[in-house]
Amino acid sequence: MSNRPEGAAVQQDVPALSFPPGIAYMDGAFVPISEAKISVLDWGLLRSDATYDVVHVWQGRFFRLDKHLDRFLSSVGKLRMTLPLERDALARVLAGCVTRSGMENAYVEMICTRGVSPTFSRDPRDAINRFIAFAIPFGWIADEEQRRRGLDVAIARDVERISPRSVDPTVKNYHWLDLVAGLFEAYERKAENVMLTDGAGNVTEGPGFNIFALTGGRVITPDIGVLEGITRGAAIDLCAELAMPVDIAPLPVATLKAAEEVFITSTAGGIMPVTRIDAAAVADGKPGAFTARLAELYWAKHQDPTWSTAVEDLLA
Ligand SMILES: *Cc1c(COP(=O)(O)O)cnc(C)c1O
Repeated sequence: MSNRPEGAAVQQDVPALSFPPGIAYMDGAFVPISEAKISVLDWGLLRSDATYDVVHVWQGRFFRLDKHLDRFLSSVGKLRMTLPLERDALARVLAGCVTRSGMENAYVEMICTRGVSPTFSRDPRDAINRFIAFAIPFGWIADEEQRRRGLDVAIARDVERISPRSVDPTVKNYHWLDLVAGLFEAYERKAENVMLTDGAGNVTEGPGFNIFALTGGRVITPDIGVLEGITRGAAIDLCAELAMPVDIAPLPVATLKAAEEVFITSTAGGIMPVTRIDAAAVADGKPGAFTARLAELYWAKHQDPTWSTAVEDLLA
């Protein structure tokens, strides 16, 4: 006998084989990624009431882990959540997920959700916050071909980035309905990715990345309405090393489209060139020399102990 109402289709469990390899940590234990599951009553799911951070491991080394931990702990604090573990223990958990997964290059996510209220009350103060971490294989926003020739992006017309007065963009969050709507709009327009504006003529960011333009011997990246990306920070620091001035200032769509070079930054892929915007070439339509220099330096820093930490050193 089945409990299924007559005529109801069975929605199969996602088969374990469809999961990427990976290890998660939840409720104090490391488990295969396919076994890491939360309650449907968790406010992280029901309200997108959660914050997270993603750090990557490249050739066995975490990149700028301290900056990711600073941002995550600050986000948790701003949302009035509490973690069940201290900063050092958190770092060891992340390292534990990576070593147990056996991966040299990994995408390592830490999440804190509001959790479930034991009485199912609607008061967020009653909920017991939940912490989860996991390591899965490293992933890229732009695939190899896209990184070689540059991304083709659309600037969304039908949707704008959620206002920083509504959701604090410096808290890394899952309020992605605007970004996802933008992606569908971009795909309809035959573009590969999307950038959202602030509704006042300036670009903000895209799904999981920040935006930069090189114009008139200076680099510009938006100042407000964006997550302060760790890769954005790395690009700013690398510009300083190369004596390239950076303006953290509004970036009008017109300035972006007329730029000599455009690139995006993300933990999921680093510094990546954009060569088409709204079906028109950026400059000569080829990835720029400065972007290439920056990306090369960015990857070289992954071996530099002032920018990176060996995974096993966290477990010593
Ligand atoms: C994660 C993210 C970024 C990029 O931040 P990094 O720390 O460089 O990975 C940019 N915008 C949004 C909305 C993000 O979620």
